[in-house]
Amino acid sequence: MNIEKIYKDADALLEGHFLLSSGNHSQFYLQSAKVLENPKIAQLLADELAKQIKKSGLKIDTVCSPALGGVLAGYELARSLGVRFIFAERVDKKMTIRRGFEIKNGENILICEDIITTGGSALEAAQVATNMGANIVAFAALANRGFCSRAGSNKSMKATCKLPRDTPFFALADFEFDIYEPENCPLCKDGSDAYKPGSRGN
Ligand code: ZN
Repeated sequence: MNIEKIYKDADALLEGHFLLSSGNHSQFYLQSAKVLENPKIAQLLADELAKQIKKSGLKIDTVCSPALGGVLAGYELARSLGVRFIFAERVDKKMTIRRGFEIKNGENILICEDIITTGGSALEAAQVATNMGANIVAFAALANRGFCSRAGSNKSMKATCKLPRDTPFFALADFEFDIYEPENCPLCKDGSDAYKPGSRGN
């Protein structure tokens, strides 16, 4: 399965001159929500991810996603795996699990995101679930930005990856883009202006 082509065809992998929330610039931007706009493609991607996870032999009772980004990917993955789905959400910036979702002591939980950059939100969701009794068996995402190392890849994990080193992380593909500080951005040097993704209709 050519994941990059699927993202490109769905206009989820954008090319331009982007101003990232970090203040840095990049030529590429991953708009994960766009690839999940079509439920059939979402299902296809989740099935592919589920295949990897099943092959690992891990026992998973529940998929939990940090809202909002991870919810669609996690829900589709739970459907593919045939397990329960719950989500964590921020209330006053603090990650919580509410809405009556319960976690049994020792319940095997996989944390799923649409995209893992450094994995900060995924880690926070894992910590909340752990506090409620969960046993975190794995992390998963459709796309990996290349800071964390996915199962089966020989690319090394960067120091900024927040996911625990001793828990497997499954993802379909690595999307590694160069990121530039504005003063060293070759796109700026070429004379164009950086813009926020979404501000020009994308
Ligand atoms: Zn620039």
